[in-house]
Amino acid sequence: MSEPSVLMSLVSGLRSGAIEVVDLTAPLSSSTPVLQLPPEFGQTAVFELEEISRYDDRGPAWYWNNFRSGEHTGTHFDAPNHWVTGKDLADVASVPVGRLVAPAAVLDFTAEAQADPDFLVEVEHIKAWEAENGPLPDGGWLLVRTGWDARSRSQEEILNADDSGPHTPGLSAECARWVAQESPVIGLGVETVGTDAGGAYAFDPAFPCHSYLMGSDKYGLTQLQNLARLPATGCVVVAGPLPIVAGSGAPARVLALVERG
Ligand code: MN
Repeated sequence: MSEPSVLMSLVSGLRSGAIEVVDLTAPLSSSTPVLQLPPEFGQTAVFELEEISRYDDRGPAWYWNNFRSGEHTGTHFDAPNHWVTGKDLADVASVPVGRLVAPAAVLDFTAEAQADPDFLVEVEHIKAWEAENGPLPDGGWLLVRTGWDARSRSQEEILNADDSGPHTPGLSAECARWVAQESPVIGLGVETVGTDAGGAYAFDPAFPCHSYLMGSDKYGLTQLQNLARLPATGCVVVAGPLPIVAGSGAPARVLALVERG
């Protein structure tokens, strides 16, 4: 008898529960929060369903809907061409599919973000994590856990804005540059509505995660949830954005495969 193949080992692990599938995706509905830009800019649409028929005169045996959504609504994938720094790089349909299945490192800044909603991850934080856990995964994701997923059912709570603008955690400009240009990861995943911190419009450069990552042919994943159920190292993320031709991003189902001992 031949050895079981790697894929059959994966299948048996999934069946036995040795490998758990964790859903990192926020439910997509008309109440899914969306990012809000200052009023002088164009705004992304909230998700909307429009019923075509529901076992009625319009279609007696079938139910279906049209939907309207921003590319950047809910849990979604940012493609390099989303930002001007990556305008000549891949659109969301051109991202190599091999890069959509990748290992992930999960860095936990829940306590820091709870103490200070404007908390910024610095390069030193990542280096301290690497000293304990080993290097960030080559070709993998850096997932930043902040506890912000607990706010994902409320537009007001997830944006956490006051007169001085939104207050949500993220990366400093130098850390964003380091992740984009010096670290081996292909992208950054966060629990907030965008990869950048709430105050990042005032950073130099503005929105540094977008500016540096997209410009380095890297990706973003936003509004992730259940990162608390992932180990610091060793999980595999499957990110599935819709292949919108020429699109700048797309709603994505994001799953993690986790080994349970
Ligand atoms: Mn986006």
